[in-house]
Amino acid sequence: MPDVFADLVGQDEAVDTLRRAAAAAAAVLRAAAVPPTADAAGDEFDALAEEADGAGGAAATVVDPGAGMTHAWIFTGPPGSGRSVAARAFAAALQCAYGTGCGGCPGCHTTMTGTHADVRMVVPEGLSIGVNEMRALVLRAASTPSGGRWQVVVIEDADRLTEAAGNALLKAVEEPPPRTVFLLCAPSTHPDDISVTIRSRCRVVPLVQPAPDAVAEVLVRRDGVAPDVARWAAAAAQGHVGRARRLAHDPEARKRREAVLAVPRRLTGVGAAFDAASALIEAAEAEAEASVVEADASERAALETALGAGGTGRGAAGAIRGAAGQLKDLEKRQKSRATRAQRDALDRALVDLAGFYRDALTMALRAPVAPVHTDTAALAGAGAQKWDAEGALRRLEAVLECRTAIESNVKPRIAVEAMMLSLWKG
Ligand SMILES: [Zn+2]
Repeated sequence: MPDVFADLVGQDEAVDTLRRAAAAAAAVLRAAAVPPTADAAGDEFDALAEEADGAGGAAATVVDPGAGMTHAWIFTGPPGSGRSVAARAFAAALQCAYGTGCGGCPGCHTTMTGTHADVRMVVPEGLSIGVNEMRALVLRAASTPSGGRWQVVVIEDADRLTEAAGNALLKAVEEPPPRTVFLLCAPSTHPDDISVTIRSRCRVVPLVQPAPDAVAEVLVRRDGVAPDVARWAAAAAQGHVGRARRLAHDPEARKRREAVLAVPRRLTGVGAAFDAASALIEAAEAEAEASVVEADASERAALETALGAGGTGRGAAGAIRGAAGQLKDLEKRQKSRATRAQRDALDRALVDLAGFYRDALTMALRAPVAPVHTDTAALAGAGAQKWDAEGALRRLEAVLECRTAIESNVKPRIAVEAMMLSLWKG
């Protein structure tokens, strides 16, 4: 039985930290379970430290104080490095009956499948996490864990917290309930991603971009992908594990990638540049719509059922008045999710495109590195000859600037059109 950390590809150092913290957390629980000897009101973590110093003596296990458990963690790393995978695995290890993340006990199993009563995964669907959502979450997180271990709250994309939501979270992180653990995921600890005050209360677990070999190995071992396909997908995905798996399995994803990589040779004039921009935007819209349409419809049906369409009698009129508001809320959430999905799809395309110009740049510089896109390497080589290193670099920068512009809320079409013109002109 693989343990809960098995899916964390190429993250040995982080896994080591998390294993030791899980063991320390289990020791905290054991220490709390023994009859208190001295200071019954003492903080459990202090008790752990004393125990580790050899002053406690009541519990059997002595834990390295440097391995310490703490109430708040931030998992950082580039997209696809496995921030949320790491957070979920750690949550499972905290709920594990053996304190190790064995992968086989009910605590591990229910956490990994998303059904553990004391683990909440907050996955923002829209562009930001609002204050109301955060307040409700903090309130529930303060309750006693029903399984007797920890209340764990995992906040994916914590960089999307609104300022007010961040403040609500900060209060909880500053004065944590004794059995509550917050696990935040963010691209980095830069103040743009996470407020300095929250950062100062958290322990940081940095994840690295996994090497293509490590990604390919896991695709072969776990997903049964043929070795040559796995190697190609891992390189093309540039260290993004989920993307590599999708490229290996999903022909539609491969087709979309090919269309994006056809862009550089299509840029033959101003008109072609605008056409390419339109095509890229429309492809992202179509991909995003395909990804949310099912969820939208089932949510709407569920809400209509819950509101009891066709109800009569006392209270029905009031219910209908409330229903209009709820429906409007749902539509707002769905619109926000659709926008997010579109931006994510567009960003994936831009990352592919950046890979192409990076290949051209490394070839122009004759750098001894493997190309990102082996299947368009010849085309990138032709580009390298035509543009030289400087021209390739300018084009790479145009793609990266486009990503930054969209991230800071420039209208995607405007940013992509500007990028295409730069790619054409060089
Ligand atoms: Zn377990």
